[in-house]
Amino acid sequence: MFVLVTGGMGYIGSHTCIQMIESGMTPIIFDNLYNSKPTVLDRIEKVSGVRPIFIEGDIRDKQALAQVFAQYDIQSVIHFAGLKAVGESVEKPLEYYDNNVHGTLVLVDAMRDAGVKSMVFSSSATVYGDPASVPILEDFPTSATNPYGRSKLIVEECLTDFQKANPDWSITLLRYFNPVGSHPSGELGEDPQGIPNNLMPFVAQVAVGRREFLSVFGGDYPTKDGTGVRDYIHVMDLADGHLAALNHVGSKQGLHIYNLGTGKGNSVLEMVVAFEKASGQKVAYKIVDRRPGDIAECWANPAKAEQELKWKASRSLEQMTEDTWRWQSNNPLGYPQS
Ligand code: NAD
Ligand code: UDP
Repeated sequence: MFVLVTGGMGYIGSHTCIQMIESGMTPIIFDNLYNSKPTVLDRIEKVSGVRPIFIEGDIRDKQALAQVFAQYDIQSVIHFAGLKAVGESVEKPLEYYDNNVHGTLVLVDAMRDAGVKSMVFSSSATVYGDPASVPILEDFPTSATNPYGRSKLIVEECLTDFQKANPDWSITLLRYFNPVGSHPSGELGEDPQGIPNNLMPFVAQVAVGRREFLSVFGGDYPTKDGTGVRDYIHVMDLADGHLAALNHVGSKQGLHIYNLGTGKGNSVLEMVVAFEKASGQKVAYKIVDRRPGDIAECWANPAKAEQELKWKASRSLEQMTEDTWRWQSNNPLGYPQS
């Protein structure tokens, strides 16, 4: 089965391509390399034994997409491509709406022209805003507090309207919680450009000596130890969630929404301790002011995905931290340029 994977050179997309290859699917990667490097292809090949088809292109380029759909008999699209930095989205809202919202509309339009009617979209737990309670269920109210989150919410709404008007389509919205970890080989992982925004890559860079200390954003939240609590999920589990979505609802007409999380919450300090244990390195930290826009705690109720997709996150916190450390210590500066 040919599956178009937009953003397949990125962090979550590359891990998903490996799992797809291992399960006999053929990913066709379409990526403009805005936030990824060509070396990712070599690493996917090294790990899986297969060099995926790669087309360098932008999802806002309808002609380029039309060519891909004309060339390959594509059954489904997994749509990862987009911009994802919350802080940057506040500085550059237009770029975020253009890439994430306009880009998705162009992609859906090209799919419609080509008669491809199955899409899995990368959404985020950010669409729940500041939830009234935890764990979070799929039918909780949605809201946005920044342009990145709003772009995800707008895309969810556009796709919902579109699916209503086109009931023979299958559209799946996967709301990821906090993806961390790396492929267990240490060949693939998260490679943020510049100073990492997310906790795990920052902790990893402190452990490997690239940064002096971690700033812990807030020590006075009403949580178990005062620091923020999140649902960290291994990227390989997340990758498997996409395969489960394709297999169970990818050809089932309708709009399908699933949380992809573990159902467990860990605090920032628990993550630091787990990382120190996995790496054998000290992770220096300082507690500083809260980061504007952050919420105290957030974790999923993943029961719907378990029931309907027959999928459940199975990798432990130890695996998340050990695999991250293997990637970080083998590749202290991330992927080489070429
Ligand atoms: P990433 O930046 O590593 O990967 C995204 C890929 O998309 C990159 O390779 C980039 O070059 C490509 N891309 C960006 N704009 C493009 C365009 N216009 N045309 C073609 N390619 C383009 O990000 P990721 O962490 O792998 O995230 C993948 C998706 O999951 C994103 O949509 C993101 O918003 C969503 N998501 C990520 C997280 C997270 O914490 N990583 C959490 C929730 C949701
Ligand atoms: N965090 C932190 N220091 C950092 C980055 C993140 O203390 O340098 C905290 C953040 O406040 C939140 C948790 O780590 O409680 C996860 O943040 P991240 O940005 O990784 O994901 P988010 O849940 O905000 O999308």
